[in-house]
Amino acid sequence: MISIPKGTKDLLPQDSYKWHYIEERVRRIAGLYALQEIRTPTFEHTELFLRGVGDTTDIVNKEMYTFDDRSGRSITLKPEGTASVARSFVENNLRENALPMRCYYETSVFRYERPQAGRLREHHQFGVEVYGAEGAAADAEVISIAKRMFDELGISPTLYINSIGCKTCRKDYHAALVSYFESRQEGLCATCRERLHTNPLRILDCKNDNCAAIAKGAPSILDYLCSDCNAHFDALKHNLDVLGIAYVVNPTIVRGLDYYTRTVFEFVAENIGAKSTVCGGGRYNDLIESIGGKPCPAVGFGMGIERLLLTVEAAGVEIPNQEQPTVYVACMGRPDECARLVDELRKAGVSALTDIMERSLKAQMKYADKLGVRYCVVVGDGEIDSGAVQIKDMRQSTQETCRLENLVEFLAAK
Ligand code: ATP
Ligand code: MG
Repeated sequence: MISIPKGTKDLLPQDSYKWHYIEERVRRIAGLYALQEIRTPTFEHTELFLRGVGDTTDIVNKEMYTFDDRSGRSITLKPEGTASVARSFVENNLRENALPMRCYYETSVFRYERPQAGRLREHHQFGVEVYGAEGAAADAEVISIAKRMFDELGISPTLYINSIGCKTCRKDYHAALVSYFESRQEGLCATCRERLHTNPLRILDCKNDNCAAIAKGAPSILDYLCSDCNAHFDALKHNLDVLGIAYVVNPTIVRGLDYYTRTVFEFVAENIGAKSTVCGGGRYNDLIESIGGKPCPAVGFGMGIERLLLTVEAAGVEIPNQEQPTVYVACMGRPDECARLVDELRKAGVSALTDIMERSLKAQMKYADKLGVRYCVVVGDGEIDSGAVQIKDMRQSTQETCRLENLVEFLAAK
């Protein structure tokens, strides 16, 4: 038997309605904020992620699916969504669009990670990007989009915010961090000891318990912000207060990608185990420039759809299955009439099925029941002759009578 690659998942027919439900709601909220969809390819030139995400990050160093294609170009399966959108923004000169440009994407994301619940090698992200707005009102609006999506889905993960400053204020902070961690090196994991001189900020994000304990006592970035970054962070808090969005300031939130500047945030669900960050985002004012475009401020987030679904289910939210067939026409020896009838029903916009296997009435009813059909109608010689049919409501176990010629109209009205 050929099995599925480790860390990937099939979305099975009986579960797909849950994804559709989440996607439909999330897109509806995106519409309320006038976000337009952008679709970028599944793979990009490796160079994009080296420059965009940063070559000292875990994603780039350890997690990318990179290969040479047949003509020897280095190709990488998207390890996140933002760099591709930024590439498209520059390449298609989207700054000519009305700014700020607001868009969203839904994409597969590939990372070579150790698979566990909520951590896959191919997962899916819904993301939002806003380009061209520098002020904290944009950051607050982006955060409010995620918040509204969670509200819509009946979950309430905790919002953590932080500012990691700009290039200027981070310089002093890096020095302070390095000297703090240098004197505590023995307690750090091997990766963090390596990171100490390449990317000390990353240590704050390490999931190793010892590193996390040491990181707790580290100097806080918030004590190192320059006055502009400080003012921006204060404005963000003010704007969130205005929108009534609760948050916790957490100076150890740094995010796993190099492109962030100033605002970073995460929404963390408390009830799905260790891997509980459902959404992460922030501001990346230097990203466009680092991939070769004219500087342009940007802010956005990525939300893991698998974790979103885990969180919704863990919260006990019942996802309604709106994709079960509405009508089953059980066929008793009159296949032509039944075929014509379901065809009429579909034309009228009603999802309908009939027998295509010459099965017994009992077998047909069992099938209809398994599919979760709402209404059953038996059509045989008796119904054709009398012109009257019984409509059985499978959920309420009630029955109604209807003229055959009115059946389509009757069911369409339901
Ligand atoms: P984590 O800290 O859990 O590794 P991350 O910081 O690497 O997450 P991001 O790069 O910010 O995650 O991705 C945004 C969101 O995508 C995460 O908040 C999470 O919901 C989801 N996500 C990230 N990696 C995975 C994965 N391997 N499997 C499933 N979902 C993931
Ligand atoms: Mg990660």
